Amino acid sequence: MDGVERAVGAVVGSAVGDALGAPFEFGLAGAFSGRFPQPGTGGEMCGGGGWEAGEATDDTQMAVHVGESLLERGGLDLPDVFARFQRWAAAEPKDIGLQTEDVLTNGLPWDQAADAHFRTNQRAAGNGALMRAATSGVFFGGRGRAVTMDAGRRLSALTHGDPAAWEGTAIFHELLRVALAGGDPVRAVPDALAAVRAEHRGRYATVLAPQWEPDQATEFNGAVWPCLGSAVWAVRTTTSYERAVRAAVDLGGDTDTVGAVTGALAGAVHGIAAIPVRWTERLHVPLPGSTDPQRVLHLRDLEALAGALLTASRSRP
Ligand SMILES: [Mg+2]
Repeated sequence: MDGVERAVGAVVGSAVGDALGAPFEFGLAGAFSGRFPQPGTGGEMCGGGGWEAGEATDDTQMAVHVGESLLERGGLDLPDVFARFQRWAAAEPKDIGLQTEDVLTNGLPWDQAADAHFRTNQRAAGNGALMRAATSGVFFGGRGRAVTMDAGRRLSALTHGDPAAWEGTAIFHELLRVALAGGDPVRAVPDALAAVRAEHRGRYATVLAPQWEPDQATEFNGAVWPCLGSAVWAVRTTTSYERAVRAAVDLGGDTDTVGAVTGALAGAVHGIAAIPVRWTERLHVPLPGSTDPQRVLHLRDLEALAGALLTASRSRP
């Protein structure tokens, strides 16, 4: 499998996991497998809960805005990413995280808004920066561990003031980088942990340990630690994209985001050809905040985005 298949697998895989999980958000564990007991039988991209079948949510919408900023600005332009997020939030997306909405609408500049929210609320370690990492993971994947993890931290900090969220997003970017290069992201966990700030290492070491399972989580999976741990668990304990994403969505709770995070990693590991066509053919991504407010991306658009991000990744120093 070549790098293009993995890069497209990560970007499309994240969007598919998001759309697959969206109708099950805030549901109970086992709801998905109760309705779709066997892999491969079809109908899983079912819609519901206000979502059309195959409709991606804020997770994918924000990932696309990040990716388009990276391409159009030729690199990491944090004020530009923040401005795109603000236009998106102002265009009234169907779904937006409470914390993300507050940060994007509190009127403060890009480098103060998330920090002010964190200082006021003290709880800002949601999974909302993990969920949009597929595009930046591809873009920075060719530039080594330190650059990739630093980009993950800075992109996370735009909406999440808690350094714990930065470190989790940095770890996830590093695992994506390894997978996109054809390596095993599970085996890369120790090196990624070693590059995490010391005061945050322990909690991530717990949820990324080889024996950890999601039922050991001490927080709702909308928090960064169990979300990341669950995604790595889903990839570690399965042998296909379909089974990994099924396992993630079947955990219940924040199913679209756990699905999106798992889907990005599983897509990088198994490649675009492993993602069921019956899921990708229904996939569509409305994109509030675009110049054209009616803009909707489909599979071919996400493939083109992933390809352009990979080309840009390879063409820069
Ligand atoms: Mg969502």
